[in-house]
Amino acid sequence: MKKLYFLVLSLLCCATLAPAQENNIVIKGGHVIDPRNNINAVMDVAIRDGKIVQVAKNIDTKGAIQVVDAKGMYVTPGLIDIHTHVFFGTNLDQTYSNGPNALPPDGFTFRNGVTTIVDAGCAGWRNFEVFKKQTIDRSQTRVLALLNIVGEGMRGGTFEQNIADMDPQKTAEMAKQYPDHVVGIKLAHFNGYDWTPTDRAVEAGKLAGRPVMIDFGGSNPPLPIEELYMKHLRPGDIYTHCFGQLKTREAIVDVETGKVKPFVLEARKKGILFDVGYGGISFAFSQAIPAIKSGFFPNTISTDIHTGSMNNAMKDMLNVMSKFLAMGMDLQSVIRASTWAPAQAIRREELGSLSVGAPADVAILSLLDGKFNVRETGYFGFFDYTGYKIEGKQKFNCEMTIRNGKIVYDLNGIANPVIVTQRPRS
Ligand SMILES: [Zn+2]
Repeated sequence: MKKLYFLVLSLLCCATLAPAQENNIVIKGGHVIDPRNNINAVMDVAIRDGKIVQVAKNIDTKGAIQVVDAKGMYVTPGLIDIHTHVFFGTNLDQTYSNGPNALPPDGFTFRNGVTTIVDAGCAGWRNFEVFKKQTIDRSQTRVLALLNIVGEGMRGGTFEQNIADMDPQKTAEMAKQYPDHVVGIKLAHFNGYDWTPTDRAVEAGKLAGRPVMIDFGGSNPPLPIEELYMKHLRPGDIYTHCFGQLKTREAIVDVETGKVKPFVLEARKKGILFDVGYGGISFAFSQAIPAIKSGFFPNTISTDIHTGSMNNAMKDMLNVMSKFLAMGMDLQSVIRASTWAPAQAIRREELGSLSVGAPADVAILSLLDGKFNVRETGYFGFFDYTGYKIEGKQKFNCEMTIRNGKIVYDLNGIANPVIVTQRPRS
């Protein structure tokens, strides 16, 4: 009986694999890195009706609408950036909350292989629906959200210090009302020596059944992070800006000894997730280099992109990933921390892989070699906001991005025929 069941099941599976002539896109000859499925080899990828239908060697291209020549390139799941700021708008005094410090998603994602982003707390329960209507619903990029524990979201100034506007109940209600879009709760920018905002964010997370992301610090002296990890956060909660080194935020690497603090390793065992959240001044090589050298890799690589950080040391997702390569993090781990690991962190496990049946969100990347750099030094330069600079031999470059089964970015016209799907006019 069991055998018969498997026979029927495998016949059904074969039936779901597209005959070559029905494929919309076949990506040929790329080196596929799909950490979820332990694939790290030259393979072809077939896409039909917005889904991945096959990952295998030598997929027939006959009848395919578009064939992509990915020889010499890496084919990965579409990148997932879980710390971005995209509630852009014209309220000029509202910083990241319907204001000028935030960015329109499609303007920076696809040219970096990014297909899913999480807005990290720009909106709170009071203005989430405005954000949804104006940004989430109108972007080709998949936009998810961490709801700010502050009802007004990231409006700057006194708004983000107002404990009276941190309502766990109302925040959780809004999160539950939009389960497809709200993946967690965010606390950021609070600068008092007080645990109340953290506890309210976690309370909202408990009520909504979702993780919290904490952008910690701001008080001087700083609140102890050991207490944060061990007493306030739950397994699966996310500590962003993990390689920051500021006066108002305790660092994870002991500056004197250059070692990751023992309780940080304990926190990781407990299940606390360490997210890069690069940002303007929230990443320092003085923290990241000793951590990476000792084998302490971030769980997730993210940008904290906004109009400030993108023009400073951070720049974009691929630049941040390239920095981790330059520091000695291996290629597989860098890709994992930018695809499958963030999908797991936000509990959206249908994303972040090239599994058959998954949404066809794909990045095709090349690794540029330093010898082609304009200065012909053989190295690329990577600096942080303090001015500290390291050199790396390789740099990621986005060749193509596929979102929901459609090519949305093609740098060098590697698709045949070259057709890029643009956002419909409306
Ligand atoms: Zn941020």
